[in-house]
Amino acid sequence: MTFKALGLSTPLLRAVDKKGYEVPSPIQEEAIPTILNKQDVLASAQTGTGKTAGFTLPMLQLLSDQRPVKGKRAIRALILTPTRELAAQIFENVKEYSEFLDIRSVVIFGGVNANPQISKLRAGVDILIATPGRLLDLQQQGALSLSRVEFLVLDEADRMLDMGFQRDINKIMAMLPKRRQNLLFSATFSKEIKALAGKFLHDPKTIEV
Ligand code: AMP
Repeated sequence: MTFKALGLSTPLLRAVDKKGYEVPSPIQEEAIPTILNKQDVLASAQTGTGKTAGFTLPMLQLLSDQRPVKGKRAIRALILTPTRELAAQIFENVKEYSEFLDIRSVVIFGGVNANPQISKLRAGVDILIATPGRLLDLQQQGALSLSRVEFLVLDEADRMLDMGFQRDINKIMAMLPKRRQNLLFSATFSKEIKALAGKFLHDPKTIEV
């Protein structure tokens, strides 16, 4: 299998090539065509399986294919993740994978001064990577709007629940447009994760690797 055969466009193939990836990982083989097909995904995948590229590459492709003709940038994809370290790591990956596209990404997380994050948000964002608490803080301050979100990624969803983010996640979900594509990644499929998936995913494809 090749990345090209999965349906990725030239700018993304260039980025993958620059990273030195030769073949897609199992999760990428399943997730990339499914996401390009606009289906929701429920995936059990640990860190190290290549899941970040698995959701980022097809999402970047759909975002750049369907760019609104007019208007300024709005947050069109929201990636929620439990920790600052994970958020920073996803942000680095998203930047690398979008190098050959006109897509801007910003990362926000708690425990640091919010002002630099707010300035970056003001400059325009397509993809926001966030931890739940800081996202809610900045939303409540009016520093960002979630009314144009087309993609939601819940990364390490089981850890988010373990860390007590259920209520924050519910609040965030209530702010998103109803029509959107949802991707949920979790190391385990507990009862709680299944309940979360049942609530937020629409006819998902289940991927287990
Ligand atoms: P992740 O599970 O998304 O945290 O990715 C784990 C590591 O695998 C990261 O360092 C990626 O850069 C790398 N990686 C992702 N996809 C591939 C691939 N298809 N081939 C080789 N390495 C990859």
